[in-house]
Amino acid sequence: MRTIQMVDLQTQYAAIKTDIDRGIQEVLDSAAFVKGPQVTRFAEHLQAYTGAKHVIPVGNGTDALQIALMALGLKEGDEVITPTFTFIATAEVVALLGLTPVVVDVDWETMNISVDAIRRAITPKTKAIVPVHLFGQCANMEAILQIAEEHHLYVVEDACQAIGAEYTFSDGHRQQAGTMGEIGCTSFFPSKNLGCYGDGGALFTNDDALAAQIKAIANHGMVVRYHHELVGVNSRLDSIQAAILDAKLPHLNEYTAARQAAAAYYDRAFANHPKMLVPGREKASTHVFHQYTLRLIGADRDRLKEGLAERHIPAMVYYPIPLHLQKAYQDPRYKQGDFPVAERLAACVLSLPMHTCLDEEQLQYITRSVLELIQ
Ligand SMILES: *Cc1c(COP(=O)(O)O)cnc(C)c1O
Repeated sequence: MRTIQMVDLQTQYAAIKTDIDRGIQEVLDSAAFVKGPQVTRFAEHLQAYTGAKHVIPVGNGTDALQIALMALGLKEGDEVITPTFTFIATAEVVALLGLTPVVVDVDWETMNISVDAIRRAITPKTKAIVPVHLFGQCANMEAILQIAEEHHLYVVEDACQAIGAEYTFSDGHRQQAGTMGEIGCTSFFPSKNLGCYGDGGALFTNDDALAAQIKAIANHGMVVRYHHELVGVNSRLDSIQAAILDAKLPHLNEYTAARQAAAAYYDRAFANHPKMLVPGREKASTHVFHQYTLRLIGADRDRLKEGLAERHIPAMVYYPIPLHLQKAYQDPRYKQGDFPVAERLAACVLSLPMHTCLDEEQLQYITRSVLELIQ
């Protein structure tokens, strides 16, 4: 049996090596390492894939989130609502810009931001909502966009884990993760669903003026060369990463299907078990399974994790500490017990290996081991 990894990038690379190597070699031969034609080409292809009007590649997903909030012209003291159960980057950029993060609880079933909690958190200072499409499925975007419209708020989607997830609105029309709010952000970190071989990210928007603003901010606030109209940053996707992503994008649907097949295998093995709950599904969204995350009920997580490790099966806790209990984000407004669902999730979630190359033998070994070891 092949070694089981949380994410197996070697096997994935081996299958597309010729295309990847050719793409990288072209960049080396041209020496256009920055702003090469690969970057524009990839952006166009991703535009066609997602249906977003504009795709602006940047250096990483965290930069994408920061640039999004800068492009919306948010000012110190403006409140930005985010879920407390997420990766830190979401709140980090809010704090870095001097905005006020307002964290809210999540839904127990989907682990995504709670719509009721958003409603309760809105104040006259609220300017934006940043829903995170956690683990690969879209948050309840129809309700979130409705709230945003009622209260004149911006929506910036953190779609770093959900590229390719599709959301169906009640009128039947569909949109992809990252293309529904004013701005969507994604990451091409190697382990993400569409990963490069270094750092990368992108912003999506359907608004021409915002697209222009985002491009300027990502390029030192420059529109005309050496004329700086705003304070910007330097954030670029380099040509080698763009070439790699362009070679991988045609495989994204097949990668998603492989993740969904692995998730279906896990679901079947663990359904109706008294000590674990399989991931609940957001009704209107497809799930692209960036992670497959179990909720353990009355089981010893550490022991299970150690037992799996002894059998060379990695498992990870995403995320062990909600934002409001992180040291760097301590805030007199929040204390332990304020967000019970997020706190309960942090204590009981366990993510199993999830990637595009899990085979039946591995899945059987993983599921059998979990069933034998859970207690
Ligand atoms: C990965 C990730 C980010 C940050 O992306 P980077 O490219 O690593 O900067 C932000 N938010 C979420 C939810 C993520 O999973």
